Amino acid sequence: MKKFCLGIESTAHTWGVGIVDFKGEVHTLINDTFIPEKGGLHPALVREHHLNNFAKIIDKALLEANLSIKDINLVAFSQSPGLAPVLKIGALVARMLSQILKVPLVGVNHCIAHVEIGRLMCKIEDPLTLYVSGGNTIISAYESNRYQIFGETLDLAVGNMIDSFARDAGLSHPGGPKIEKLALRSKKYIQLPYIVKGMDLSFSGIYTAAKRLIESPDFNNKYNLNDVANSLQETAFAMLTEVTERALAHTEIKEVLLTGGVAANKRLQQMIQYISDEHDARFEVVPLKYAGDNGAMIAWTGILRYLSEGGHEMTETIIKPKERMDNITVPWRLEKKT
Ligand code: AMP
Ligand code: MG
Repeated sequence: MKKFCLGIESTAHTWGVGIVDFKGEVHTLINDTFIPEKGGLHPALVREHHLNNFAKIIDKALLEANLSIKDINLVAFSQSPGLAPVLKIGALVARMLSQILKVPLVGVNHCIAHVEIGRLMCKIEDPLTLYVSGGNTIISAYESNRYQIFGETLDLAVGNMIDSFARDAGLSHPGGPKIEKLALRSKKYIQLPYIVKGMDLSFSGIYTAAKRLIESPDFNNKYNLNDVANSLQETAFAMLTEVTERALAHTEIKEVLLTGGVAANKRLQQMIQYISDEHDARFEVVPLKYAGDNGAMIAWTGILRYLSEGGHEMTETIIKPKERMDNITVPWRLEKKT
């Protein structure tokens, strides 16, 4: 008989529920994403949104998978990293379900889950992963029983930087796809701060400089929004590509995985494809349904951890808003590679 894990994603804007069987087949994935009317993600408003919708989305997921809540054998939830008030809701609902259903509970690191769903969906064994989203910018690969971080942002996540600039330019949330469209209309490059420190990245300088460009008297005179969008993408993506390439050269890994919401961007895909080809590495973009935040990635990673070391005790399921992916061992990879 098939066994099922219900996974809950609740680190930021998305309340996601996924149901995955222990063999890795995804039976459903339902996302309910909070979109702010104006400004960024206010944790209190996101929390309200998730509190109002969690039961409805769980019901919808069960209905779509043609399952009853009693068919669930394992509950997994995003335990780290994320916005504390929002993480708490996922943890609370997951603990409650596990106690009512009397099934084991597993807490999952959101960043590791992005890598694992990518490995599953792209049938990739041992990738170097570039994870670029609204909340994270991380280049990681497996080494010594952990997903080690080779490079990361020192300030803003790249998606957040693009969204913030887009908002300043009067575009609605999420700004990423709109900036991509505008950038396609320009070939002009205006120099912006290119900040790579060692293997780490900083995006706040690009944000400030791009904002100044659209506030300047030269705007719509010497250059327009398409030119700024193009320059912003070219600079930010070249920085990501440089660090990814250096990690590739250092590790000699032969597979590259691009994931997170920003993975949808064709220009970024093109740049990472280029360096992958240069290093004879296979390049895969995680299918977009699974690249953004979702409950299926939490369910699948929960299954992997449960099968290798069992469920977590209730006392181990406290949320960890700042936990890094390289702080956690991934025992399910041990059998394959040491
Ligand atoms: P996530 O945080 O993984 O759910 O992804 C959301 C982020 O992806 C937001 O910052 C979006 O603006 C960004 N995003 C989505 N599509 C694109 C795109 N085509 N180009 C750049 N960024 C994008
Ligand atoms: Mg994410």
